[in-house]
Amino acid sequence: MTMTPDPGLVSLAAGLVDSADAEPALSVPTAVLIVDDQPRMRESLGALLSGRGFEVELADSGAAALERMERPPVPDLILLDMVMPGTSGLEVIAALAARDLDTRIVVLSGEPSFEHVQRALTQGAADFLRKPFESEELFSTLARVERGLDLERRARVAEKRLTESERLHRFMIDHAPDMVYLLDPEGCFTFVNDRASALLGWPREALLGRHYTTVVHEQDFELARFVFNERRTGDRASRDVELRLRSRLPAQGGGGQGEVVAEITATGIYAAGGSDTRGDFLGTYGLARDVTERKRAQEMVQYQAYHDLLTHLPNRALFNDRLELAVTQARRKEGRLAVMFLDLDRFKVVNDTLGHTVGDRLLKQVAERLRNCLRGGDTLARLGGDEFCFLLPDVGCQEDAAGVAQKVLDRLSTPFQVEDHELFVGASIGISVYPDSGASVEALIQSADIAMYHIKGRGKNGYAFFLPDMNAKFCSLLALERELRNALANDDLEPFFQPQVDLHTGAIIGVEALARWHHPERGVVEPIDFIPMAEETGLILQVDRCIQRKACEAVAAWQRGGHAELSLSLNVSAAQMEQADFVERMLAMFEETGVSIDSIRLEITESVIMREMEVILPKLRRLRSNGVRIGIDDFGTGYSSLSYLQRFPVDTLKIDRSFVCDIRGDGGDASLVNAIIHMARGLGLDIVAEGVENSLQLRYLQQQGCHQVQGYIFSRPVDRSGFEICLAEGVTLADPEEESSTLRSASRLRGPA
Ligand code: C2E
Ligand code: CA
Ligand code: CA
Repeated sequence: MTMTPDPGLVSLAAGLVDSADAEPALSVPTAVLIVDDQPRMRESLGALLSGRGFEVELADSGAAALERMERPPVPDLILLDMVMPGTSGLEVIAALAARDLDTRIVVLSGEPSFEHVQRALTQGAADFLRKPFESEELFSTLARVERGLDLERRARVAEKRLTESERLHRFMIDHAPDMVYLLDPEGCFTFVNDRASALLGWPREALLGRHYTTVVHEQDFELARFVFNERRTGDRASRDVELRLRSRLPAQGGGGQGEVVAEITATGIYAAGGSDTRGDFLGTYGLARDVTERKRAQEMVQYQAYHDLLTHLPNRALFNDRLELAVTQARRKEGRLAVMFLDLDRFKVVNDTLGHTVGDRLLKQVAERLRNCLRGGDTLARLGGDEFCFLLPDVGCQEDAAGVAQKVLDRLSTPFQVEDHELFVGASIGISVYPDSGASVEALIQSADIAMYHIKGRGKNGYAFFLPDMNAKFCSLLALERELRNALANDDLEPFFQPQVDLHTGAIIGVEALARWHHPERGVVEPIDFIPMAEETGLILQVDRCIQRKACEAVAAWQRGGHAELSLSLNVSAAQMEQADFVERMLAMFEETGVSIDSIRLEITESVIMREMEVILPKLRRLRSNGVRIGIDDFGTGYSSLSYLQRFPVDTLKIDRSFVCDIRGDGGDASLVNAIIHMARGLGLDIVAEGVENSLQLRYLQQQGCHQVQGYIFSRPVDRSGFEICLAEGVTLADPEEESSTLRSASRLRGPA
């Protein structure tokens, strides 16, 4: 609370200072008005008094005297002749008495009777002199009157000072930023200043006589007993104790009665010389300072320091505190506790493609669902970004934690609706258990984090308990991300090419571009070792663009060089497809590299299609209308249903390697391949089998009517020049011992020149 200087206060204070400085002018000569009709008397008296230092004025009649008295400054004394023609001395006294002046009157009377004098004295004259008089008699009378005058003036000045100082104190108290109060020994208000009404909504008079508990919050009665109604004095008295007061003013933000947090400073009042050990207690003097705002600000700061403001969950600091506590308890009780580190899968993609507003809303919804998985005593915190952490104190066994983890995964499996978007987020959860995976707060969090990364690397959406051998892998994962960034900057990525062969003709009809990373120390790094990490970190966007562009350039060159019909299969990540300008970018890239649009096949995995259907469907339609063909990659591993395939603008199914792998000759295991092939045929889709490694698989597929094949049996993915050799020489079976028996004619597989 600030106090603007009040002009009233300033002038009041100034007035007090003025009057304190200005001693009454007692040393200045006393002004005397001599009133007498006899000129000689007047003159001689005037000369006499002037000679004694008086300031003398003369008047020759009562009327002249009264006229003089109209003009300030009025004289201090009047020497007044009683008997004058016209206005008499008595009449002058009567007229002046009505005016309440400071002037003292000494009457001069020549009358032998005392009656005149008596009348003059009762009407207000201060003293009298009987004519004729000695000069000494005159001076002593005047001196007596002067003394009386002086005393009266001093008294008046003192009184004036007192009332002014009282006014000033009163003003100060009423304008004090704090409520000032006095309590009687029973604890009832005997005084409150104006501030009380502003603070508590009570008119000051209404509070007087009431017990102090009238304004104290019930829950603080006990505290108030010692503080508000303080009996101690001096150093032992209470200072700055916080107390809640009840206000009659409405609560801030509406609704209900207000509550004021006040800081009380109070001290007992004792009779002069009394002490609190004797029974001289007179009451309590106290100050109540409104600290509600400060308190609120402090609480806000406190809250912000320990909570995440987006989700209102505890933050890392609070989580660490609680974990610290839980670890201490678990140690004492020899119990166990679990830390669950949760990282959303693909959150970054949502954030990057749909914007932070959508990202934030998604996080809020996720937090809400996670909160619903909590059991009493558990703590859920948001550590930042899309990372959440659970503290499960008191887990009996690993299964308890696993149960919670599974519940979380289940809860997250239904899509989130944010604005128009249906969003799918999975989660990777790492779990560490005290004391097995670590004995300290740091170790537990780190172990859970490492276990989480383990799940991420394994294709996400799942949970894992920390195992000691995860440590090494984790370190290399972090290093890997850094290295991939460098690789992108240094242009160390390039596509390898794997041919797709038409079994009817043995010709290479297409090529799939597959990413390879030329690592300065580790040589060629395979996608399995960096694509999952790239997806998680968002680096996949750059990886895809780089590989696709280089592949388009290479294939454009081959198309120009006599392989006009060669198709190019490009792997597309979910992140890429979610980019708002995905279609434009793709079309621009085809245009710029000169690759034939009709030759492009985009490979999209089943799981991505399933999850992001609404977002990608229109985009794929547009690409398709431009001539691009769409293939479903890894078909059979997801949960695509027939009806759903019909809705989807798709041209090709790529049978997943795992099904091809199952083909072993006895026929039984391959029934799924059969089913897929027949279904695809029914829908009029092209089928490509990938991962074909031996002639047994090749022959089987051929028998089932699948004629487009990709696999090691013809060629591993090779670099650009390697593929140029393939194109020039055609492919041969890499499984020569079976060649004669399994294929009708090996020569048919040699590509056209
Ligand atoms: P995919 O799209 O299913 O690619 C086929 C994978 O099967 C390739 O693995 C290929 O080398 C491998 N393969 C082909 N024939 C055989 C075979 O006969 N036997 C066996 N065992 N494997 C065979 P690769 O190159 O390691 O790629 C793995 C995955 O990484 C790809 O699976 C694809 O999902 C992803 N990927 C590769 N390059 C890119 C890329 O540029 N962008 C994106 N987004 N993903 C990519
Ligand atoms: Ca593929
Ligand atoms: Ca595949």
